Amino acid sequence: MRQSSLLLPTLREVPSEAEIASHKLMLRAGLIKQLVSGVYSYLPLGYRVVRKVTQIVREEMDRSEAQEISMPAIQPAELWQETGRWEAYGPELMRLKDRHDRSFVLGPTHEEVVTSIARDGINSYKKLPINLYQIQTKYRDEVRPRFGVIRAREFIMKDAYSFDVDRDGLDRSYQAMYDAYTRIFTRCGMDFRAVEADAGAIGGKGTHEFMALSDIGEDTIAYCNSCNYAANLEKADVVYQGQASGETSETLEKVHTPAIKTIAQLTEFLGLPAEKTIKSLLFKVDQQYVLALIRGDHELNDIKLKNMFDANVIDMATEQEVMEVLGSPVGFVGPIGLQEKPVAIVADQAVKDMVNAVVGAGVADYHYKNITPGRDFEVSQYGDLRNIQEGDPCPQCGGEIRFARGIEVGHVFKLGTRYSEKMKATFLDENGKEKPMIMGCYGIGISRTVAAVVEQNHDENGIIWPLSIAPFHIHLIAVNPKNEDQLKLAESLYEQISQAGYEVLYDDRPERAGVKFKDADLIGLPLRITIGAKASDGLVECKIRKSGEMQEIAADQVLDYMKETLSKL
Ligand code: ATP
Ligand code: MG
Repeated sequence: MRQSSLLLPTLREVPSEAEIASHKLMLRAGLIKQLVSGVYSYLPLGYRVVRKVTQIVREEMDRSEAQEISMPAIQPAELWQETGRWEAYGPELMRLKDRHDRSFVLGPTHEEVVTSIARDGINSYKKLPINLYQIQTKYRDEVRPRFGVIRAREFIMKDAYSFDVDRDGLDRSYQAMYDAYTRIFTRCGMDFRAVEADAGAIGGKGTHEFMALSDIGEDTIAYCNSCNYAANLEKADVVYQGQASGETSETLEKVHTPAIKTIAQLTEFLGLPAEKTIKSLLFKVDQQYVLALIRGDHELNDIKLKNMFDANVIDMATEQEVMEVLGSPVGFVGPIGLQEKPVAIVADQAVKDMVNAVVGAGVADYHYKNITPGRDFEVSQYGDLRNIQEGDPCPQCGGEIRFARGIEVGHVFKLGTRYSEKMKATFLDENGKEKPMIMGCYGIGISRTVAAVVEQNHDENGIIWPLSIAPFHIHLIAVNPKNEDQLKLAESLYEQISQAGYEVLYDDRPERAGVKFKDADLIGLPLRITIGAKASDGLVECKIRKSGEMQEIAADQVLDYMKETLSKL
């Protein structure tokens, strides 16, 4: 491709709306252009990368025997009403009406549509298992679109759905996708980890998220410093260390703590460490009020609390609800004297071992000192209710937990019969018995993957593309195309390199050398071949973008050098 005819609007200035490197660079290198918040066009260079990632995804999906289809982005509301998601999905779902006033959605995901295809097309165990996938534009009206195409409102996703006759089949389909994802992200040159995530009602090892490691990631990953354990913060199990303190319980004491509402204020006021205090937090779990107790230096994990009750919805109680249910102002809530109140008291397992702790007294400006759970109040259930912390023991091997941040680029999930039951997607088994299909779903954010790779592969001058998804392999630059020797050599090399099957971007523009080099670093193609003043001596300069390594090569050696260098990248 000749750069003189390429739509490549590079920017020198850093766009003010961009907060993170990949967003800035994707705008500056002319890969994408915003149309409206969270909605982007892909310009030629950007779309070439999207196509490369798409190709890798397609090859690996096909390799795992999944079948590519294409489903409509526009879907009738009735399908979403069948599964209850017309209500449950909330404002993220883009809804619209046609001229006959019928309601539709723009698909944020395709469980409903694909299940309707399976329901109509498959009726016997003989046609299972099957895995259907597509690569398509998705729509989600995100509350806060940001980070460019990382969290967009219109984005490209690969979504796959497996249908099996039983759980073992699902496990196999899931593993095949897990393996395919591992190959895909490896091929894309990404530094990633597959982490266990919360599977909600399904439980068990029912879901993994594939995370690109990056400081700008919105998710916290807890990983072990000595084994391969990695889990999303919300999911990581805390090992109960159960150690009695050996302290003797002292007499309960009510202390005046005027306007002391937070744990930080309390520990300072009483001169006690946070692990001597208990936070009491009121939640509404489905229809029930639950008071959750957690050690002052720990953080409550509301997903674990939700799972303890097998609930669908969990909300922190409002100030008003706290007053209505417990008769206590927020900041002084505590577990003592609640026998008559409509509330269940549960606690994190670490609370079980506490002696002489401090809790809110349930009235303004007072706390209790020297409380001991079991003696001063009853807990109906203890469990793992807190977030794991750095330094905690690994639940798999006892090693030490560390934290990293990640961008979720892929997600594999065992759905079970959640959709097939609601939508009556059934088949007849070997004995002629009707059963719901067992489903899994598997997503990859194609556009987010592109951005995550940029986030991981750049320097202060621009992007550093991994060869596998670079928009072109080679950047061929004629420093001064007005010079006859340079032009002749450049044109001839352009011809030869293209002939040899490489993708080459040929900068034949009548621009200053400085501009060309700046653009080249910004765009970040793996290998740059520059034809300058030494063209008359038959010499060119080759530079590897990643290492910065530069070498002068005889023009007739360029092809060999190039082949060898690229094979090592
Ligand atoms: P997130 O927690 O980041 O919102 P999600 O759990 O909603 O993601 P899924 O429903 O599992 O995401 O979608 C599958 C994949 O699609 C994700 O792993 C991610 O790579 C991508 N994706 C999801 N939402 C967006 C978005 N708003 N913009 C770009 N890619 C997205
Ligand atoms: Mg989301």
